[in-house]
Amino acid sequence: MQNQYHDTLVDQKTMLDNMVAQSPFGSFFGISQKAFDLVWSKLTAKDGDSAVYVSMEIGADLDVFNPVKNYLLQNEITDSNDPVLSSFINKTLHGSPKIPNYGGGLGILAGDTLKSFSACHIPVAAISLLYRKGYFSQLVDSKVGQISWSTEWSPEDTPGLYLLKNPEYPDRQLIIEIPFFDGQGKAVMAYAQIWMKLEVNENLDFFVPEFLLDFSLPESPEWIRNASNHLYDSSSEQMKAIQRRMLGAGVMPLMDILGLTANTIHLNEQHGVVSVLNLIADHLLQKHGINYQENVKDSDILEAAQKVSQRVVYTIHTPVKAGHDRFEKSLYAGLSQAVCKKILGLLAKDKDNPSLYNFTQFAMQVNRAVNSVSRLHRDVTKKQFPQYAEKITAITNGVHHLTWISDAKAEVFDSFPELQGWRQNPAVFVSAESLLTNKKFRTYLEQAWQHDTEILIQYVNNMLVMHRHQIEETWIDPPNFLSLLHEEDIPLTPTVFTIGFARRFSTYKRADLIFDDVKTLTSIITDLDYPVNFLFAGKAHPADEPGKSLIKIILDMQEELYERSNGLAKLVFIPNYDMAIAKMMVSGVHAWLNSPKRPLEASGTSGMKVAMNGIPNISILDGWWMEGFHDGKTGWKFGLDTPVDTEPLSEDPAALLYEQDSASFYKMFPQVLKEFYDQKLRPRYIDKCINNIFLNVPIFNTHRMIAEYCRNYALTLPSPVEKRIKRFQKLYKSEI
Ligand SMILES: *Cc1c(COP(=O)(O)O)cnc(C)c1O
Repeated sequence: MQNQYHDTLVDQKTMLDNMVAQSPFGSFFGISQKAFDLVWSKLTAKDGDSAVYVSMEIGADLDVFNPVKNYLLQNEITDSNDPVLSSFINKTLHGSPKIPNYGGGLGILAGDTLKSFSACHIPVAAISLLYRKGYFSQLVDSKVGQISWSTEWSPEDTPGLYLLKNPEYPDRQLIIEIPFFDGQGKAVMAYAQIWMKLEVNENLDFFVPEFLLDFSLPESPEWIRNASNHLYDSSSEQMKAIQRRMLGAGVMPLMDILGLTANTIHLNEQHGVVSVLNLIADHLLQKHGINYQENVKDSDILEAAQKVSQRVVYTIHTPVKAGHDRFEKSLYAGLSQAVCKKILGLLAKDKDNPSLYNFTQFAMQVNRAVNSVSRLHRDVTKKQFPQYAEKITAITNGVHHLTWISDAKAEVFDSFPELQGWRQNPAVFVSAESLLTNKKFRTYLEQAWQHDTEILIQYVNNMLVMHRHQIEETWIDPPNFLSLLHEEDIPLTPTVFTIGFARRFSTYKRADLIFDDVKTLTSIITDLDYPVNFLFAGKAHPADEPGKSLIKIILDMQEELYERSNGLAKLVFIPNYDMAIAKMMVSGVHAWLNSPKRPLEASGTSGMKVAMNGIPNISILDGWWMEGFHDGKTGWKFGLDTPVDTEPLSEDPAALLYEQDSASFYKMFPQVLKEFYDQKLRPRYIDKCINNIFLNVPIFNTHRMIAEYCRNYALTLPSPVEKRIKRFQKLYKSEI
């Protein structure tokens, strides 16, 4: 016994020694020295065969995916005699897992993408910003609606996040200087320290570093520090422009100081396109010398842009206007150096308004490849940017399967030989078709599903009770009418058909669509006498008044829905949507609803997370669902699906087609309920679940998506990596 215990300790010591890496920038936990050196050498190699991924937001909370913590838990490592290791272990096991640097789908996609790069050993470094007050936290009050407040978090206490040290003065942090302009054209310096989050893969043998620039230093001017507080602060146009510059203008100085050599700059949306502006200016400087600003001709700029475009790839994410930055020339010129005015004047023309710089136009023009995020979105993007139609391709989004598949489902997948190796290779789900007729699989899947539903419903019930108690303690009125009912009994039951809807609240997503005609909706439910839970969640940008009023509409709908349906229909709003709530919802609901105005949902990814858990979608035929619907084998469609040529892109309330699309929902909905509840039809429902597993999981994962990135962007990869990702490339071709 004594000996065994001793051996375990020795093993743990060896394991732990393999989990620490030293570098001139600091010590890092979760990766071996060998793996660290391998990654770093690739990112700094002369050949430049790596990429830098620039994104305004990255969503990669550690409570939904944390291989380092899993490894410690699996090996029952809870502490160490070495104080440094002990502190790393303690932080990994008990530190706060949330990094509130995301606002929605764009950030989650960034996180999922980086995890897949890491899993597939593709050398990439990501660059983003660190927001000291996060995006915002959401409180919901039944009378007021959404209340937003700053998110309290401490990067210092967050596991996996490290402040880089200055190699020359190891007791100081590494700082980069970024030339800024004060709005009147006067040069000032902004300073940023650099946090590195290690996106370590599940084998702990590779990682993608995410560098988060933190401008909150006292050395930076106050207006810069203010701009570093909140993601997507839109208190003024100037604030927005400053944030974009903080990201884009940080790219080159960061690459310089770390020695990153990436030839490819990947813009995840155009927010960071100022990096391209800097590259062009730098090219002009190299070619024309120090006085280039005075002598530079338009033809020189175009030539430089042509050269720089060979380094840039660009993913465009939305046809919605608010997603595309346009700034008043007078405002932007004050924030940047004089030559930028010339460059933007040539390359960032706005076709509707000559007094604006259009950053999407700029990104569209200066790149070697551009992709949209689904086939339908490609067609729409071509229509929006006809002059670039030829180069716009489709790479349909995906999600990181290991992040989004619940533990219970993962356990089922682990226990069937047909799915062997699914963690490394989501392509194996293609073989799940044979499981359609496997009784054991059907039973296990249903049991796992039920387990996930119970967790979700229990969370909701606890929340409802907690809100009830809050009435006595705070001034917040509980957001949910159900908190006031049911003094004694349990509000929601997990056997009741539960529909989920969760995403950002903005007008085109039409969260309230299915409640457009409550009478019709409730009569469907009462006629069939089938109970339904509707679970809603999501934040509206604090400045988006119409988005916030959608939340209020949902809250105000609850009582009427309940009364009219004689208590059969229960609608609950879950406040403060984040990745952990998302994971609970996408694995625990019985169906997932998406009701955007087509074709404005460029892709949508929450429905893919649901599909990964073997759960059907009920959705407008928009974004990814055009590709994931498979003639009804994987779920249901509703709403208008006329050809995209005739679709208006307007978000005008009058053009939002509530009446037509909700009527179409009511026509389809009874069929869903019958298939779920009627024991004779139930097998069809389970068929749909399993169809999702073999038809959709192999396609809508980020391994496949990055494999397409690599091909379309012509990234040069080491040959074992090339070979590994070939199998994902074979799975699907977005571009047909
Ligand atoms: C997946 C996800 C989103 C994006 O959902 P869409 O369906 O693409 O709108 C937004 N927020 C969170 C927390 C998510 O997990």
